[in-house]
Amino acid sequence: MPLALPIDPAQILIDGVWRAASDTLPVEDPSTGQEIARIARGGAEDIDEAVAAAQSALGGAWGRCTAAERGRLLARLGQLVEAHEDLLTEVEARDVGKPLSQARADARALARYCEFYGGAADKVHGTTIPYLDGYTVYTLREPHGVTGHIVPWNYPMQIIGRSVGAALAMGNACVLKPAEDASLTALLFAYLAQEAGFPAGALNVVPGLGREAGAALSAHPGIQHLSFTGSVATGSAVQIAAGANVVPVTLELGGKSPQVVFADADLDAALPFLVNAGLQNAGQTCSASSRILVQRAVFDEVAARMAEAYGAKRIGPAMQDPGIGPLINATQKARVEGYLDRAGDLPVIGQAVPGDDLPAGGHYVPAMLFGPVSPDHPLAQEEIFGPVQVMIPFDTEDEAISIANGTDYGLVASIWTRDGARQMRLARALRAGQVFVNNYGAGGGVELPFGGTGKSGHGREKGFEALYGFSTLKTVAAHHG
Ligand code: NAD
Repeated sequence: MPLALPIDPAQILIDGVWRAASDTLPVEDPSTGQEIARIARGGAEDIDEAVAAAQSALGGAWGRCTAAERGRLLARLGQLVEAHEDLLTEVEARDVGKPLSQARADARALARYCEFYGGAADKVHGTTIPYLDGYTVYTLREPHGVTGHIVPWNYPMQIIGRSVGAALAMGNACVLKPAEDASLTALLFAYLAQEAGFPAGALNVVPGLGREAGAALSAHPGIQHLSFTGSVATGSAVQIAAGANVVPVTLELGGKSPQVVFADADLDAALPFLVNAGLQNAGQTCSASSRILVQRAVFDEVAARMAEAYGAKRIGPAMQDPGIGPLINATQKARVEGYLDRAGDLPVIGQAVPGDDLPAGGHYVPAMLFGPVSPDHPLAQEEIFGPVQVMIPFDTEDEAISIANGTDYGLVASIWTRDGARQMRLARALRAGQVFVNNYGAGGGVELPFGGTGKSGHGREKGFEALYGFSTLKTVAAHHG
């Protein structure tokens, strides 16, 4: 069934004007494999125009907005997102195969990002600095200028909210390149931003292929900052391209995030987090918890309870709101199946298998829990980006820390223990941008600064911290005698 949208999804938005690109790309519903719409295949010339439009917006009505006015526009946009929650939810479910309730959570998070950054826009202050006699020195937080935003397909609404929301709050003019597999909610967001009253050119959206529109944006000499969320390989290429223009880049990349469960943990509280943080969005979550480290004394008990939870999961089309939906596309399905092949004779603890009645064109894979798995096995080291978790036993606290820190990544980690001193020790020892104690936030927490170490990337988005990342600091030293 085709989608009913308030805009033509095959258009791009530049300088407040919707227009066609020279070519289009198909939009596939991952639950069925059927084409449901077409989006623009933007290219280098479209990116040139979008960057020029953003530059002129900074010299025009958008650049003249006060911080309070920017905040009000974002707050209004958040209300419009809220009012269109049903539409955004359904479109996301159809476009990326995300189960309805998970798509709804993303739409709510997008509204909350607009509310949060709307409220924060006029609360970013500079400082005064004591200096030499006869001087007054103060700092100003200023927008970078034109910011580029390259977004992946797994959480389009949340990632647009956190990066574009913070960038607009600080007065930047944005060029957004959504993922070719997930552009529809980005276009709806831009439509709602127009409705909210954002001046022309403040937000420009050019969907297209990564190697075309994405590469053109990351190498563009007219941008002053680039926010990239996606894979390590692309992030590295994007950073090199932006580096040629000395453009700062925020990289939000992948992860292999551990949850560390000690024998004294409240297992009833831990269980839903251990399972759902790995299977949410069919495991296609940068902060998915794909490694479950369990102290040996409770390993069998945790394994049995996780196996039961896996058995209760249903895999199905996104519009039926199952626990687990399809993967985004055939490439991702083949990638995950490749890892399942590489599992070889690893012991299977739990699984959920797609039924025979699912649409033949959908990209369904089984959800698999393996263990015990050696910490250096590829399934315990590499980001799979599918509904696959490994369980790894450990004996001592030191061993747990060494295994938890023993990958190239460092995005999120959690500790499950009732021992307060151990909580504090591990919170410091674990190599991750976020550490949760007796909980786990896969992607959640608008207010919480987020980002990685190692191959998980650098820079921080979300929370108030993002406002510093999307601005630059000027020091003014005035000599008055
Ligand atoms: P990807 O790197 O293939 O694509 C991400 C974006 O980059 C897309 O918009 C794509 O069009 C664009 N792109 C592709 N090639 C490009 C190029 N040569 N130049 C410029 N842009 C290009 O990643 P993906 O498959 O969309 O997403 C999956 C990956 O993203 C996973 O590794 C996951 O961990 C990571 N991810 C990280 C976070 C985070 O916040 N850390 C969030 C979501 C996803």
